[in-house]
Amino acid sequence: MVIGGDAAGMSAASQARRLRGPDELEIVAFERGHFTSYSACGIPYWVGGQVGERDELIARSPEEHRARGIGLRTRTEVVELDLRERRVRSRDLDSGAESWTPYDKLVIATGARPVRPELPGIDAAGVHGVQTLDDGQALLDSLRETPGRRAVVVGAGYIGVEMAEALLNRGYEVTVVNRGAEPMSTLDPDMGRLVHKAMTGMGITMVDDAEVTEIRTGDDGRVRAVVTRDAEFPADVVVLGIGVRPETTLARAAGLPLGEHGGLLTDLAMRVRGPEAGGVVWAGGDCVEVLDLVSRRERHIALGTHANKHGQVIGSNVGGGYATFPGVVGTAVSKVCELEIARTGLREKDALRAGLQYVTATIESTSRAGYYPGAAPMTVKMLAERRTGRLLGVQIVGREGAAKRVDVAAVALTAGMTVEQMTALDLGYAPPFSPVWDPVLVAARKTVAAVRAQS
Ligand SMILES: Cc1cc2nc3c(=O)[nH]c(=O)nc-3n(C[C@H](O)[C@H](O)[C@H](O)COP(=O)(O)OP(=O)(O)OC[C@H]3O[C@@H](n4cnc5c(N)ncnc54)[C@H](O)[C@@H]3O)c2cc1C
Repeated sequence: MVIGGDAAGMSAASQARRLRGPDELEIVAFERGHFTSYSACGIPYWVGGQVGERDELIARSPEEHRARGIGLRTRTEVVELDLRERRVRSRDLDSGAESWTPYDKLVIATGARPVRPELPGIDAAGVHGVQTLDDGQALLDSLRETPGRRAVVVGAGYIGVEMAEALLNRGYEVTVVNRGAEPMSTLDPDMGRLVHKAMTGMGITMVDDAEVTEIRTGDDGRVRAVVTRDAEFPADVVVLGIGVRPETTLARAAGLPLGEHGGLLTDLAMRVRGPEAGGVVWAGGDCVEVLDLVSRRERHIALGTHANKHGQVIGSNVGGGYATFPGVVGTAVSKVCELEIARTGLREKDALRAGLQYVTATIESTSRAGYYPGAAPMTVKMLAERRTGRLLGVQIVGREGAAKRVDVAAVALTAGMTVEQMTALDLGYAPPFSPVWDPVLVAARKTVAAVRAQS
């Protein structure tokens, strides 16, 4: 039995079905929404107009899953887990009818819940989240219905900056209101500042250190402005991108133990830890905490790339095979217009929190050989452990090719390489693709020098 019909849940169900036919394993999946296996990651590009149709974001519809022998129940919400009796209570959201269904093995893949602060006006017409395809559709409908052209995005994490681009593409005047000092708090502030500068250059009004206190509405009940402690920003539409928390309401109520970030804790096979789960409950995706391989601490990182991998691992194990998920190094990429933003590993504050002493180096380079047309600037910041020189983290902000360059660093982190070892990496070079010294190699060389200076 699977709860949650998106990345983690349906990857698990599909993988289990690949290993075991319908005669050997019955699979039932509950999804409270209309859609399954959809890409929330694509919502900013659908809203922005790069992707034409909602259905392009659906990898596999409920009908396609059913055709593969998965008993999918959409618009059906699981409202209670009974771990002792091994059964769940579900509610048909259209008829209201409730029933209990037994399970032998249970997969919790309930995802994450967007943060929605209890502010006056937060539920007004014209205020939108972007967590589901229904949210994306509601936002697009709202944009079509509203003559005004002023949009305020609350939050400047990757979803906030991607939505700022989407609204800019739709011709809106965009203001991003951010609680932090710089956008993209997954970067160190010095790298976030580069994002801030670039977004301002794109015509986006950036408001930092601002706490939203109210969403002001007109007589028609529609949003008119976003109010902060110090100012008021006129708005015809508001998009919320304030972050997410693990959706573990059911698990908590059933007494499953949760980690310090509110996510479920699993072993390497993605089986929920603790006697309460009875060894027959698995969990994956945005509702779990993952092991950070660099800091060795549990973290909550809500990313589709992890959710799909968790689902594969769970499906293999539930289907009688064997697979494990070792952990993550914290790689994430995004973009706002031409600006690419990438990070992997630890920020300075993560290293401090983990008790690691570190050095940093930051370099400016270009995406192609300087003489080759189209060479664009790129800034790379690298962190390495003091004395040992072990790579701890990399952040890259730049134009073309910046984002995927971080994958080299992700591999180096996973392999536990030192920055000295990185300087000898045999990376590809030709003038259209990189300078003869790739920006990652230049950063590694400078970091080696910093390590030596501190030893
Ligand atoms: C705008 C946006 C952009 C993103 N971009 C990226 C990106 O570029 N790269 C990346 O890696 N990740 C990205 N993500 C994150 C990614 O979409 C998620 O990490 C991923 O969808 C998590 O998959 P999941 O299966 O764990 O959870 P979800 O996708 O949240 O699916 C959980 C499902 O469970 C259902 N459910 C929950 N509770 C119940 C219940 N009690 N009963 C029945 N059904 C239930 C929900 O309706 C939902 O469909 C983005 C997310 C958003 C919102």
